[in-house]
Amino acid sequence: MKKLAAHWQILIALLLATLLASGFRALDGIFAEDDWGRGVMLNTITVCGFVGGLFIQALKMIIVPLVMSAIISGIASLGGVEGFGRLGLKTVGFYMTTTFFAVLVGLLLVNTIQPGLSGGEPDLEIRAALEQQAAGASDEEKEKVAVAGEKKAGDFADLFKKMIPPNVVQAASNNGQLLGLIFFSILFAVAMTQLPVDRMSPLSGSIQGIYDVMIRVTQWIMALAPIGVFGLMVPTIYESGVELFVVLGKYFGTVVVALGLHLFVVMPLVLKYIGKIDPLAHFRGMRMALLTAFSTASSSATLPETMHCIQNNAGVSKRISSFTLPLGATVNMDGTALYECVAVLFVAQVMGENFGLAAQFAVVVTALLTSIGVAGVPSASLVAILLILNSSGVKNADMAVVALLSVDRLLDMSRTAVNVFGDSCAAVCIARSEGEAIYATSD
Ligand code: ASP
Repeated sequence: MKKLAAHWQILIALLLATLLASGFRALDGIFAEDDWGRGVMLNTITVCGFVGGLFIQALKMIIVPLVMSAIISGIASLGGVEGFGRLGLKTVGFYMTTTFFAVLVGLLLVNTIQPGLSGGEPDLEIRAALEQQAAGASDEEKEKVAVAGEKKAGDFADLFKKMIPPNVVQAASNNGQLLGLIFFSILFAVAMTQLPVDRMSPLSGSIQGIYDVMIRVTQWIMALAPIGVFGLMVPTIYESGVELFVVLGKYFGTVVVALGLHLFVVMPLVLKYIGKIDPLAHFRGMRMALLTAFSTASSSATLPETMHCIQNNAGVSKRISSFTLPLGATVNMDGTALYECVAVLFVAQVMGENFGLAAQFAVVVTALLTSIGVAGVPSASLVAILLILNSSGVKNADMAVVALLSVDRLLDMSRTAVNVFGDSCAAVCIARSEGEAIYATSD
């Protein structure tokens, strides 16, 4: 019997998890507090969450050795860093431009749809729903937002300080901030290429071996992805505050349509006209990475699969992908920047703060900059949102962010897919500009 393609397996897992979690939600109202049925249900959800957690942990486990070995062997296989400066400039330029496009899309939609207003006035029904949701939020959620509220703009700038890590082992201990590790790996690779051949070859061979091993491990982990995704999704959907989705329908709609515009219109145009790449073929090549990003809500955890897809399906060299993708997972977040912009202006609208052109411009700039510093982990951008709201003097920002946090997961999943797709577009466009024969060239 022919085996079902991996992306179908994941889609089926997503569907089954949605059905089961929705069933559980329906049973919630039927079971009494001490019903044995409720006990079975809650235990099932806990087991699912445990299995999903193991899946994410397995993906995270390989990030550090994968990133290091990919960068070092990628540079070493070319015998040096020739053209590396050019590659760096192109990558950073691409990331900044596309993130700027994303923010503009968000800005345009939030101003057109005005999800926080009703008849031109702050929507009081939404304000009351946010207040109610925040009042019922768990202590953990409140604590998370309180900690986030203490962050200052300087904490985001610290990211650049971390680029040269005072301790490599410590730098490698935070999957969300890979910049230090990337810098160290590039330095290591360059120094390695300057060793005499007899000293460099064994080292280079071993690191190449580590990379191959990591790719093999990625494949094993991804073979279990349908089970992992099912486990992740059951508690996520069960716990999502569906009631608030209805009141916040316009807000959710704005975010989803804006993300969709960026993903399905803006980036395909970039692929077609800048990269001369067939967008459909690229979507097809990246579908496993997109599904993984959607299910895990973490660009960092998705990185091994993104690298696998871009090298095997798109045919981008290790030299380019090993540099652009880890960097992208850390600093390039189109979906996040777009979301920050929409969320901040939405809260401002609900709270009756009138953001003029200058204030909106400030939001755009801060969303652009903070999206660079946001870690590639679930709900990371809420810290940046709170920072922008507080610095703009919006009242009750903490309350609004606590409420948004409790319904964040589905939006987080969607923006993470957009983040990962943006990284992959950079990799193929840059590879193409460097003369690599990408699978899906359209000219
Ligand atoms: N979860 C997102 C990511 O990993 C970051 C965020 O927007 O919260 O890319």
